[in-house]
Amino acid sequence: MKRKNDKAYKCKKCGRVTYPERVVCLKCGNREFEVIPFTDECTLITFSQIFQLPWGINDRYLTIGVCQFDNGIKAMGRITTPKVKNGMRMKANWKLFREIAGEDVWGWVFEPIK
Ligand SMILES: [Zn+2]
Repeated sequence: MKRKNDKAYKCKKCGRVTYPERVVCLKCGNREFEVIPFTDECTLITFSQIFQLPWGINDRYLTIGVCQFDNGIKAMGRITTPKVKNGMRMKANWKLFREIAGEDVWGWVFEPIK
């Protein structure tokens, strides 16, 4: 099954927002959700740099981070530059990273707003 986790879900019963998608609300057990689109911009909460990358990633290192979108949802993604600080404003893009065993791998890419 091809999944694109570029949307968040708000429980129609209790209002809890979940990301990524879940079948059952963790708070109230309801199974009906309203789709919430992400905002274009977010704020970097925390980040890390990885220097031992798995086979198939042709980069020397990778900067990843958790950002909070302006609608309150938090998500992890790749950051386009190693020069980052917590609290930076980022532009968020949902992008195709690569293909693994014939399946497309999508994810968030965060780019600092200058
Ligand atoms: Zn709920």
